[in-house]
Amino acid sequence: MIVTVYSTHPWDQDYLTAANSHHDLRFLEAKLDLTTAPLAERSDAVCVFVNDTVDAEVIAILADLGVRTLALRSTGFNHVDVRAAIERDIRVLRVPAYSPNAVAEHTLALLLTLNRGTHRAHNRVREGNFRLDGLLGWDLAGKTAGVIGTGRIGQVVSTIFRGFGMEVIAHDPFPNAVITGLGIPYVPIRELFARSDVITLHCPLTPETYHLIDADAIEAMERRPTIINTSRGALVDTIAVIDGLKSDRVGGLAIDVYEEEGDLFFEDLSNTVIQDDVFSRLLTLPNVLVTGHQAFFTKEAVRQIADVTIANLDAAEAGVGTTTQVTAAFVS
Ligand code: NAD
Repeated sequence: MIVTVYSTHPWDQDYLTAANSHHDLRFLEAKLDLTTAPLAERSDAVCVFVNDTVDAEVIAILADLGVRTLALRSTGFNHVDVRAAIERDIRVLRVPAYSPNAVAEHTLALLLTLNRGTHRAHNRVREGNFRLDGLLGWDLAGKTAGVIGTGRIGQVVSTIFRGFGMEVIAHDPFPNAVITGLGIPYVPIRELFARSDVITLHCPLTPETYHLIDADAIEAMERRPTIINTSRGALVDTIAVIDGLKSDRVGGLAIDVYEEEGDLFFEDLSNTVIQDDVFSRLLTLPNVLVTGHQAFFTKEAVRQIADVTIANLDAAEAGVGTTTQVTAAFVS
């Protein structure tokens, strides 16, 4: 098949090329949107990443060009109008289960770094400043972690928290038997907000979870929690969390994803003036830590993403069913 690969980064090209069976992969650095969709002319499939725009208008252009397969290099599909794709007879295939450890371990990296100020200490020591002011952390052992979403990633995060001696409580409309088997209780979301010292998000972005952490949720938090989001930016109402940080109701924020990250992440903007004032405000706060959507970024995970993507393209070409397909049931 001819496959136009949008939002190509060097690692995509390396790992997809290594995994490729026989497809004609056409790598583009450009993101997919209304203006770049026509570049998929003569392609059987397009392959996209998390910040590509795959709305109904873009899908209409791709369908008119004859594209029949949309291969997502991601687990989440919130950026895709799946209904529009199905209506236009385009199969949407994703990577449902690549290394959950990659994201889970990055979640812990964010928490440990923010709590102990490792990033600030590193910069200070390089400047010859060995003072400890502002670096006072707290033991994770004995604290309560609230895990929202206990699927593949949330499960690994929960077991790691347990390893640190934390009490873990969880919220998920579909309880996971492994979690209950560990003796981790499922609690109503407001109870989780009230009891947690750490709140970490591992649920998908859906209309129900949009701004799950908003002013009302923050009002219910009683223990100045550190909030961690490695899932999807729009789970968090950023302005509400900035207010929570300013009023000291929220103790810290560590994010790998951001509501408006599409205009920022994966680019070198070091010589430009960032126009997003909310994002810039976040960066001024000492108790905020931001990484640029890198939680997935381990060799193991990138290899799995490439392998599953190529297997998806093989299945699409052969016209055979696969469990990686995003069907109407996912969006009903
Ligand atoms: P998963 O499907 O295995 O688990 C998601 C869990 O969320 C499920 O158990 C589901 O029941 C639960 N859930 C759904 N609605 C909920 C709600 N309203 N409240 C609480 N829980 C709810 O997915 P996963 O592989 O664990 O991935 C979780 C998320 O992580 C993905 O949706 C994706 O957005 C994000 N992710 C981020 C990165 C990154 O690089 N930062 C990489 C991979 C995945």
